[in-house]
Amino acid sequence: MNDGREIGIGFDFDHTLGVDNALERKAFYAFAEELGYRLDPHDGVWPTRIEELLTEFRAGEVTLEQMIARFGDALAVRDADPERWRALCYALVDPLVRPIDGARELLDGLRARGIPLAILTNGWSPLQQKKIERALGPGAVEEILVSDRIGAVKPAPAAFVALVDALGVPAERAWYVGDNARGDIGGALAAGLRAVWFDWEGQTYPPDLPPPTLRIGALRELETLAQNTIAP
Ligand SMILES: [Mg+2]
Repeated sequence: MNDGREIGIGFDFDHTLGVDNALERKAFYAFAEELGYRLDPHDGVWPTRIEELLTEFRAGEVTLEQMIARFGDALAVRDADPERWRALCYALVDPLVRPIDGARELLDGLRARGIPLAILTNGWSPLQQKKIERALGPGAVEEILVSDRIGAVKPAPAAFVALVDALGVPAERAWYVGDNARGDIGGALAAGLRAVWFDWEGQTYPPDLPPPTLRIGALRELETLAQNTIAP
């Protein structure tokens, strides 16, 4: 039996343990409205533009302040205030963020077994921390690593090195669970971790990536894996 000190498990957050129902996108619409513009989310222009802004920001290509400045430029608004956009995001955490089915129960079970747990998530602080607490309750995992704080965005190896460090186990005994094939699974495998692909949204696994160590369709499957497969 695994005594819990042998392995550690890291998790992605968005679409693995919780969903935010397009929180940042909705914050942009609320922000525009405050600035005097009612953007049509179905017009085919703004959804694309907002998604592009968020994609560049999430990849670390632009700062949050630059993203908001670009949004202001697109609306022809001067001095769009990034603090206001942040505040709108925080206000949407309670109404929009939800756990994935079984996430709380799974973490409770793993914690009870003494397995070190951490979340490694791409995003910005403290929004990710607020989302995680809303979805999973306080203290659900010991460590929360957010890309803006650790200075590394998945799939960069440095992000997974930080995770292994936080888990306190050797890389080959660290598991990473995520829904994103390239960012989560490709990144974790390249950094020498084992990777569980949470395949629940009908995505196709890219043929150029090495296959995940394990594939699950529901989080509860990890309980069994922790007992049977993961335990040495
Ligand atoms: Mg994800």
